[in-house]
Amino acid sequence: MNIAALIVAAGRGTRAGLTDNRPKQYVKIANQTVLEHTLDCFLNHPEIKTVQVVVHADDFDLYREATQNIKKNNLLPPVAGGATRQASVYAGLRALRETNGIQGVLIHDAARPFVDEPTLDRVIKVLRLGKAAIAAEQLADTLKRGDADNFISETVPRNGLWRAQTPQAFPFDEIYQAHEKAVEHAKTDFTDDAAVAEWAKIPVQLVAGGHDNQKITTAEDLQRAAQRMSTTMTNPDIQRELRVGNGFDVHRFEDGDHVWLAGLKIPHTRALKGHSDADVGLHVLTDAILGAIGDGDIGTHFPPSDPQWLGMASEVFLKDAVRRVSERGGQITNIDLTLICEEPKIGPHREAMRSRLAEILGISVDRVSVKATTTEGLGFTGRKEGIAAMATASVMLPI
Ligand code: MG
Repeated sequence: MNIAALIVAAGRGTRAGLTDNRPKQYVKIANQTVLEHTLDCFLNHPEIKTVQVVVHADDFDLYREATQNIKKNNLLPPVAGGATRQASVYAGLRALRETNGIQGVLIHDAARPFVDEPTLDRVIKVLRLGKAAIAAEQLADTLKRGDADNFISETVPRNGLWRAQTPQAFPFDEIYQAHEKAVEHAKTDFTDDAAVAEWAKIPVQLVAGGHDNQKITTAEDLQRAAQRMSTTMTNPDIQRELRVGNGFDVHRFEDGDHVWLAGLKIPHTRALKGHSDADVGLHVLTDAILGAIGDGDIGTHFPPSDPQWLGMASEVFLKDAVRRVSERGGQITNIDLTLICEEPKIGPHREAMRSRLAEILGISVDRVSVKATTTEGLGFTGRKEGIAAMATASVMLPI
């Protein structure tokens, strides 16, 4: 059977919250873009003859850059998608129609880089019988329906409920005609191809997808994906080394009623003065991580002279440092933050700070330490003129 894969990479995906607004499929995790990780699985599958990617019309340069190292002649030149996912798939199907003889197609989201060969095998097995199939996961959680005030109105039986994933596999002519007919009937709100098929009365079989085959949507998803990709890459061929960096910073008090510290807004009789939100804890952590990977400091990447960082939440800076680690295939091992001040008291906020930092860094809480000290009334911190902070970060980086 002549089977093609259609990879949908036309979304803007800026919900991932990245500072340079790069769509998530073009963000690097573990030394490769999300799109490359996704393409690997399809380009190397023995039963897939052709791979077609649909990109956003503005992203041809990003695509070229992301795929320059792929030396596979079964990857067709990219085509531009449309305004919706449905329109993009239809554009891809039209392009594939130019390649003669395609009998089956697997349609897959570029933002699902953890798709694996066994999942492709399962959908292809159904496709070979001339039927449509989608990868999906049976729901394991108990489902509750909430009312307008978020009180439970009922428990929904989970029997027979599945979470749809991709790839979704179809006999080529059937799905092409279903999309064509949907356009003719001005039906443009289908969120996946199985829904188009369902509307066109094409039976679709559910097959087990991998539990890891999740879609990357948020910045947290992206960090988790990078961590997972690094651990799946615990490949003896990749040697890693331990890197350590430190950071130090001071911010002065000014009039105000709260401070931002280690990602938390804490009521106080003063505020910290700074160009951003002046979160001295996040600034030193950013510098410690950048120090560990030898990639400048917070001021190199976010110059205070640049008005776009005015009043910025400092977690943007820290997340950017985390992204730089992920891009190089690295992993943050632990961080240790010390806040130096007489006031506010840190103790009551310590656990909340650890949780918040673990969330921003995409690591477990046991890898996050927050400590506090005073300077016994000595110096500028002793005179309550400001807050100082220092941090150490360790990172495992491929050599
Ligand atoms: Mg600072």
